[in-house]
Amino acid sequence: MGTKPIVKFCLALTISAAMLLQITAPHMAMADAAQRAKSTLLNDKQSQPTKTISTQGENTRTLKLDNNVASMTKKRTIKARFKLPKGTNIKKIRWTYGGKPLSEWKSYKNGDYNGAPFITVTQIKAENGEVTANINFGLAYGTENLAEPSLQRPLYASLMGTYELAAVVNGKTVARAPMKLVPYDSFRTYDELKPEIDAITAQAAQKNNRYIKTMSIGKSVEGRDIYMTVLAKDKATIDKYQNVTHPDMLNHPAKLENDIKSGAFGDYQVPIWINNIHPNEAPGFDAIINYFKTMALDKNVTYKTTPSNGKSSTVTLNLDDALDHVFFLFLYTENPDGRVHTERSNAEYFDLNRDNSYQTQPETRSITEQIARWSPISFLDLHGFDKNFLIEPTTPPHNPNIEYDLLMDNMVEQAKVMGEAGIANTKYDYYHIPYEEHRKTAENPKYVSKGTASGWDDASPAYTAVFAMHHGAMGHTLETPESNEESTKALYYSVAAATDYVMEKKEKLFLNQLKIYERGINNMDDHAVDRYLVNAKNQVIGRPRHGNKNFFPEYYVLPTDKSLQKNPLEAYRMIEYFIRNGVKVERSTKAVSAAGKTYPAGSFIINMHQATHGIANMVLYDGIDVSDYASVAGEIVQDFPVLRGFECDAIREAGVFAGKTSPVTSVSIPATQMPNHSAYVLIRNTNNDVIKTVNELLKSGKAVTMLSKSGTGYEAGDFAVAYDDLHPLASKYDLDVTAFGNNRPVGKVLKPSTVAALGEPAYVLKNLGFKVTDDQQHADVLVNTFDSDKLVEKGKPYIAYGNMGMVNVKNWIPQFAFAGPTWERYEGVFLANIKQDHVITAPYDSEEYFYTVTGSYITKLPKAAKVLATISNKENFFKAGWWPGHDAARGKIMAFTYKENKKNLTVFSNDLTNGAHSQQQFRLLANSIFNAVAGKY
Ligand SMILES: [Zn+2]
Repeated sequence: MGTKPIVKFCLALTISAAMLLQITAPHMAMADAAQRAKSTLLNDKQSQPTKTISTQGENTRTLKLDNNVASMTKKRTIKARFKLPKGTNIKKIRWTYGGKPLSEWKSYKNGDYNGAPFITVTQIKAENGEVTANINFGLAYGTENLAEPSLQRPLYASLMGTYELAAVVNGKTVARAPMKLVPYDSFRTYDELKPEIDAITAQAAQKNNRYIKTMSIGKSVEGRDIYMTVLAKDKATIDKYQNVTHPDMLNHPAKLENDIKSGAFGDYQVPIWINNIHPNEAPGFDAIINYFKTMALDKNVTYKTTPSNGKSSTVTLNLDDALDHVFFLFLYTENPDGRVHTERSNAEYFDLNRDNSYQTQPETRSITEQIARWSPISFLDLHGFDKNFLIEPTTPPHNPNIEYDLLMDNMVEQAKVMGEAGIANTKYDYYHIPYEEHRKTAENPKYVSKGTASGWDDASPAYTAVFAMHHGAMGHTLETPESNEESTKALYYSVAAATDYVMEKKEKLFLNQLKIYERGINNMDDHAVDRYLVNAKNQVIGRPRHGNKNFFPEYYVLPTDKSLQKNPLEAYRMIEYFIRNGVKVERSTKAVSAAGKTYPAGSFIINMHQATHGIANMVLYDGIDVSDYASVAGEIVQDFPVLRGFECDAIREAGVFAGKTSPVTSVSIPATQMPNHSAYVLIRNTNNDVIKTVNELLKSGKAVTMLSKSGTGYEAGDFAVAYDDLHPLASKYDLDVTAFGNNRPVGKVLKPSTVAALGEPAYVLKNLGFKVTDDQQHADVLVNTFDSDKLVEKGKPYIAYGNMGMVNVKNWIPQFAFAGPTWERYEGVFLANIKQDHVITAPYDSEEYFYTVTGSYITKLPKAAKVLATISNKENFFKAGWWPGHDAARGKIMAFTYKENKKNLTVFSNDLTNGAHSQQQFRLLANSIFNAVAGKY
């Protein structure tokens, strides 16, 4: 997890573009900061060392070292010796590292490398023709902890490397040896990972018969492999789990429970998944490799633990015994690119630990697919940094799709044993469990917590560990205190203690996980969960049943027929998501009437009587309103029907589809059905494929007309193109196309346009096929850019959205005013009234749910502005989310265009592209671009 990117205190300061970048778009700020830091790294005060190791010269001796690794975070003296060439005066010996004199290896101080040298040589002696010396490596950054973000990228990553340590006499090297400089001893680069896994695997093959298999489960944005190692007692363990145990867990959990209890099921092993997602929280990655090495090669792992009774004891975990009960899934990092670049985010600047449920990124799609394949019983996500060593479970608000009563007690126990081992074997003396700190605070208002007692919640399934809980895992995020060897150890011993815990309690834990699946099979809404679901006053509110008996509906139906489905493409994409995430999908074979509608054969059906009904519900239900809380840790709105804009109905009548469906095991998105030939065809502006198609046609020089008026069978904002131009693209996109006659369509003939945008909007627009640039001067339209006044005054079109966008345009529009939180990112789904007479909004329904993450709304506009949408005035306009004070937004303006005094502005108060998961709103942005830029009428 981590802190929110909002910095409240900046409110009082003058707002500059750079500050806005830093506050509202941390990913952009990061890239910017990296660029700036590059120029301060190893600047002219310090010449660049060379990482190339020269081959031994004829007369050069080997420098013998008692250790060839130096740490940036631990002072270390390395003993060096070499044979002194005859006739050499030892007083003439000079030492270099990476070709630079040691005096030039200056430590980092006050934002630059201008401190005292951190490498020195002492005690140079010569005896019997041999020189000995102490090479002292101090703290390169003046600290034993590299957790501080300003030290991470690109500082320590740039400093680390293998350099040549050399003794030089009169400019001639007389002895040399390679010497590695690392942030801390266990630190590995991504490139070192696979060779080390292979070496350990080869060693293990000589030593024992343990089963070790490493695979690439997917590729990162930049094409790097995401490695996962399966480690078990033997291959039979994995075969039984995959072929017998796991299918039984999902399909016959009750029978499996009985067979486990009676012993009829025989031996079985359960999976522990150890994960890293933020590789700049470096110890997580290294602790996994260290633990894998132990599990692969050793007989025992021995560690101290200090239970709450204070009596310290030593635990020896026999690994062969452990592997009789558990097996391991080592996911070294979900984010290889982040390890390479020392970044929290992936190469598209997405925080993957906010994307596990949304799955907009290749890395999260790969990992979540594997979580569904393995259903780990314990999922440990290794993070940093919390100085008080934080181990989940979390504070409320909790997530109603999780079966807390079957997880929480064991998770608290497991967190405790992890914390106890984590501190007993390190210098740390404290750990805390947010859930426990919150409980103690709630029970005793005078309790003063040293750790986190609020604002560290699991309301969002976007976190990996919380996501895994939906699959019945005990999902823990661990936040180690520092970035160094000690924190790597803290995580390592925590994982060892978790292994011991799962091994000792295997049957109880596994029966609980089976109970979770059994509830799923019975579509049971067990009220035992309710007591975990509390409001901000700690009053039990339970699951949001909205008057229904069962929190879970009997079915979800995703129709595909045009009469019932406004966006079949996204409905198909949702089905792909379900199949990838282990949710069973069916398709109706007959027309079925339910809840006042008749669903044609071919509708997609999610029968909620299944083990993973919580996963399906998580993304399809209406969500929760937790606006009474003072804060939440991350975005909680899932609501894929709203975010992605497709129709999905909850059916509460039991058995209506029984015997009228067949299973779906794979799905492919249908191609466009071309109509009968006519000169022109109409493309309804109903999904994001339409935008991609239009951009592809424009790029290849084809004419695309955006219709300016609605008519029979079409609306303003739809597109007309020549039949023969569209035909070659029909198989590539899923479009709603009809014949449009032989007369030239009336509307705006679009031109290919270049859009200036940065960060997230740039990512979204590129994916929609727009040409994106950061060069405002040469762009046709600007989207949320900074310092654009002069261009806007001259008439360059500008599209603004969200709080940040409105701040940018504020001074360009007389009388314009907006309200809402200034820096807090309130999030929610709200009902809006959409104007049907404008090309930007006519393709949407007159009433739609939209999404905001800025909680902003427009309070005042000049008469010349043309309103496009307003927030609904209905009492229940707010559906779900975390938006304190949302009632003030009721009935207010959401979007408008303004074309006066040469200005060409389009403004939305809500955020159109947030996290790239509000796909339904992407067309508001795309349509605005088509509308704003030049074209022919
Ligand atoms: Zn993290």
